[in-house]
Formats: sequence, C-alpha cells, structure tokens
Amino acid sequence: MTDRIALRHITRLYPGPAHEPSIPDALLLLAGNRIVHVGCEADGLPASWTADPAPVREIDCTGCVVTPGLVNTHHHFFQHLTRAVPAAMSAPPLEWLFVSYPLWAELDPAMLYAAARAASAELLLSGCTTAADCAYLLPQDDGELAAALMQAVEETGIRFHFHRGCMPTLEGDLEERLAAVMGGRVGTLMDHDEAVLCRRLEHVIDRYHDDGPLSMARVALGPTGVTYTRPALMTRLADMAQECGCGLHTHFHPRPDEDAKAAPDAPIQFLERSGWLRPGTWLGHGTRLQPSDIATLVRTGTGVAHCPRTIVRLGFGIAPIGSFRKAGLKLGLGVDGAASNDQGNLLNDLRLATLLHRVAEPPELWLTPEAALEIATVGGAAALDRPEIGRLAPGMAADIAAFRVDGLDCAGAVADPLGALLFAGTETRAWLTIVNGVIRVVERQLVGLDEARIAADLNVAAGRMLAQATAATRIDFSKKMTAQAAL
Ligand SMILES: [Zn+2]
Repeated sequence: MTDRIALRHITRLYPGPAHEPSIPDALLLLAGNRIVHVGCEADGLPASWTADPAPVREIDCTGCVVTPGLVNTHHHFFQHLTRAVPAAMSAPPLEWLFVSYPLWAELDPAMLYAAARAASAELLLSGCTTAADCAYLLPQDDGELAAALMQAVEETGIRFHFHRGCMPTLEGDLEERLAAVMGGRVGTLMDHDEAVLCRRLEHVIDRYHDDGPLSMARVALGPTGVTYTRPALMTRLADMAQECGCGLHTHFHPRPDEDAKAAPDAPIQFLERSGWLRPGTWLGHGTRLQPSDIATLVRTGTGVAHCPRTIVRLGFGIAPIGSFRKAGLKLGLGVDGAASNDQGNLLNDLRLATLLHRVAEPPELWLTPEAALEIATVGGAAALDRPEIGRLAPGMAADIAAFRVDGLDCAGAVADPLGALLFAGTETRAWLTIVNGVIRVVERQLVGLDEARIAADLNVAAGRMLAQATAATRIDFSKKMTAQAAL
C-alpha cells in the first residue's frame, strides 16, 4: 500500500455535490485513507505536503475526469450466477421470480464466493468504491454463506454494506406454485422461525458490523419485501437495527396488492408504524411513490435506491427522480442484481439514470450531469448514512474514481468533460479506482486480482447451479418462455 498518492494534472475534478464548482487542471492529494487536499495545479503543492519526507506515488491524470468513488446502494451479488437466463428474459416480475427461485435455491458458499468476487470486481472496474449488497437468500445459513460473501469482498477490497436480509414469505402465490416444481425444497428459501433468524442476524452483526468512521464493512437488516403479514417481525428488525447501529433496507415499490395488505394503513404508514422510516433506512426502487409518500420519506430522513436498468428490464414504472431530487429526498443509485440488470456496471447505469427519467418528467426536472453524479456519490452516501464518503474534500474518505474522456468516444465533447463522460462516453471502465486509499484499478485493470480467473470461476459455479436446478425441477431454463409455458 502506498500511503501517499498525488493525482496530478486532472483535466476536470468534480467534488460530488452538484452546486460545488468543478476544478480544471486539478490536484488531489491522499494520505492513508483520507483526502488531504483538493486544489488547482496552478496553486502548487501545499507546504505541509512537500515538507513530509514520506514517499508519494504520483499519477498523471491528464485526460481524466476525477470524481468521488461511485456508491452503489442496491445489489444482489448472488444473482451474478443467473445472468440472462433464457426462461426469465421476457418474464414479468412474478414469473421472473418463479423461474429464478429454483435456481437460487441451489446457492452454496462456493457459488456465492464466486458471484460476490465477480460482482464486486465488476463494480470496482466501473468506478464504484462502496456497494450495498441485499443478500436476502441466506435462510438456511449458519454462517458459511455469510463468511463466503465477506471473504470475497475483503479480497476485492470494496467498501461494503452487507444487507443481511431475510425472506419470511414469498411473493404472491409463489409458495404454492413453486411447491409443485420444487416440492419441500421451496421451504428452504424462507425464514420460518423468527428466533432462529434473529440469532443468525445477531451473529452476523457481532462478526462483521463495524460502525466506526471509514469502516469497510457495515451490516443492515430487513426482509426482501415489506412483510405486511408479520408486523411484529418488522418492528423487531427495526429495533434490532436501532440497538446495534445497523441500517435497514427492503424493496419498496409498492405494488397494487400491497395496498390491500397494508389496509387500513397505506404501505408507507405501515413502514412508519413499524419504526422503519429514519436515517439509515433506504428503500429499493420507489417506482410507485405518491407525493405524500415522498414527503414522508423526506420528513423522516429515509433514502431510496434508484435502479434504472432493472426498472427497464422488468417493466416497472419509471421513478420520477427529478421530482425526488426537487423534494429533497436522499436518493442513491443502484445496479440491482444481475438477474434483472443483467450487467453490474454502475457507470453504465449512471448514464441510463441521467436520461431515462426524462421520458416521464418535464424538462425543468431533467438531470444535469452534475446532478446525476451527485445522486451516484453524495446521494448514495446519505442514503447509507455515510457522511464521510461520496465527496472530494479534505478529511473525506480516499475513495476516488478517474475516467478517461480523451478517447474517440468522447472526442468533440470538449465543452463539458462530465457531460462527455455521461452523454457521449461508451467506455465502461474506470481508468483508476481507489478505495480507502488503496489502488484497486489502474489503467482499467484490476490490481492484484486475476480477472480471467474470476470470470472462469463464476462460469463454473453458474453452470453448476443451472445443472442442479434443472435436475431438481426438470424446468428447461434454456427455453425463452415463461415458466408457465415451460411446465
Ligand atoms: Zn433488488
């Protein structure tokens, strides 16, 4: 590890907050795991920096846009094992889950390790330095799956929010329908015993949760979807998270059937009554929020993770993120799992987020490149309750991304380097990614990790999952049709 890093001659530095001006020909200095100086080359190096005899690694960032490391607020690493499964490609959400659950039921520690290593490596390569992984499929886990996940992220070096999720119930009528193809194995997907679940959550918190400043691993709790039938469990999870200083996370659209389940309350009221709405809670998607819901989230300091590629892939409504921003919502960006992305590239999704909401919102709410970057950095940090990341300023975490804008894809876009990256750019890789002061990607390549091996190992694990699920259910996952037709 190089303790001091100087990024020199940065073509344009963007601090993160949209209202803060960008800096041309900038200079950025890192010492250990913190930023110590942000300035202009023309002003020279600070005297305190030059007086220090400790070695410095200097990196010439001519041709680069430098930003805070991107923050990914929603993912499911295990889903890297089920990318572009033909039977789930054109299935609407419930059928997509029907096809996917028999595959995911085969998850074992070796598979999860391979998936988490690939997912986090891919995020690093896209300039992402912090990732929240919604790992809700660990019902039978006595610790081996959690250990495999943590080993993978520690090896790749990404800053990690481990949403140790749970699945008390399955969506809609899936439990009954899946029993027809999976038999008793459908029960292995769910967390039935609340006492056992809470013991397992406590174990994960004790083992992995570090709430210190600049911590590399934090734990969050919560079921994959709001569990209206188990209000006491929802409250218990909220209380446990509060007690332990953990975050809370769940998917929240909410779907039309949830209105009936939450009655006489609205879904958002159910969450508030369960103690869920507060700083440190962030909700996945928010595609169906009413203005009053947004006001409640703003009032309570609750965040939302916007996942633009998933809402396109699964046909969800478009989240009005321009309105979210205007209302003052803590809004972050997420790639979501690779079963519904099917990529895992946060830079690509930042580009999509910049444009997609324009289909649904008036021009006065359209995001500028700076506003989009703010969502992917400062906004995500706020949603995760991490004020020390997501901004380039002295004292902040040394989490940095640099993207080249001097290639053919950006040629001609000389007036606005960030606009060049987000509107014109087609390169999917960061040129440089630094996490907690450690260089993890340089010249678009992973440092200290064998990318080809990571991909090959994931392919072996994914093949094994597919073969086991096929043998167990006789579903032909290779057919491009809905599960109903496959049966
Ligand atoms: Zn998700």
